[in-house]
Amino acid sequence: MNNLLKQVIDENRKYTNYGQVASYIPELKNAKRSDLGICIIDKDNKIYTAGNYNTKFTIQSISKPIVLAMALMDNDWTTVFSKVGMEPSGDPFNSIMKLETNDTKKPSNPMINAGAIVTTSLIKGSSLEEKEERMLQFFRRLANNDSIGINYEVYKSEKLTGDRNRAMAYLLKNDGFIDGDVEEVLDLYFKQCSIEIDCVDLARIGINLAMYGIDIESKERLISEKVSRMVKTFMVTCGMYDASGEFAVHVGVPAKSGVGGGIIATVPRRFGVGIYGPALDSKGNSIGGIHILKDLSEELELSIF
Ligand code: GLU
Repeated sequence: MNNLLKQVIDENRKYTNYGQVASYIPELKNAKRSDLGICIIDKDNKIYTAGNYNTKFTIQSISKPIVLAMALMDNDWTTVFSKVGMEPSGDPFNSIMKLETNDTKKPSNPMINAGAIVTTSLIKGSSLEEKEERMLQFFRRLANNDSIGINYEVYKSEKLTGDRNRAMAYLLKNDGFIDGDVEEVLDLYFKQCSIEIDCVDLARIGINLAMYGIDIESKERLISEKVSRMVKTFMVTCGMYDASGEFAVHVGVPAKSGVGGGIIATVPRRFGVGIYGPALDSKGNSIGGIHILKDLSEELELSIF
């Protein structure tokens, strides 16, 4: 497996030349475009790695399925889905348009920014600090890594420039989809996006989702089977921005990407995959990462369909 991973990294690194590092959050511009790394953890807890697998980067939108899991564990589902929908939007992740044109004005799903800001607002805690601590602890347990924390440079950069998210959040508050202090919700959202991880952390979260919420090391249940199914279904239908359909056809596994260049993929009862490649394609997905997953899907027959 290690040889296969080295091979797919070497063969697909050329694609990084055709992608761009995200720059709309200024701090993300510092990433190295040619970086490409991968980690796979299998159901027997064997860890395979290649390339820049231990480079740290911010989780960005890959936090969305995790925070959705938290929102579903903290609230009854009727409440959650009265505030966020279940349908792919077909629009870019940061689109504001449907918040006005949808009949209900409800965000289409929890994998786009508007929907994710709603799920963030549903995290329980008596103060912002408690919510932040609970959130970080949940990520640490899922990744089995107590050292996971926030990259404050990225957080500050996003908070300073996140006016589009701010606009969406105020609209959502106006329409009754978020309660409480909008700036606090945004602060928590910017922090969740700025959580710093590497490919091994993502692969670990991926295998725990692949095992339907049971930690492969401690055998402890971290997420209920029902919640893990729900989260993975959203990853299939909406996880890869407005290229989710194409990704399902070519790769066929639940996955989520982020503008920091990460991709998490989870292959039921088999593998957790973490990829890092900050050169993004026009849809916002890691360009090298997508090519790697296509190759691995063929090689290891990963598609669930
Ligand atoms: N923090 C980013 C934003 O809200 C996340 C975007 C992404 O990774 O898709 O714009």
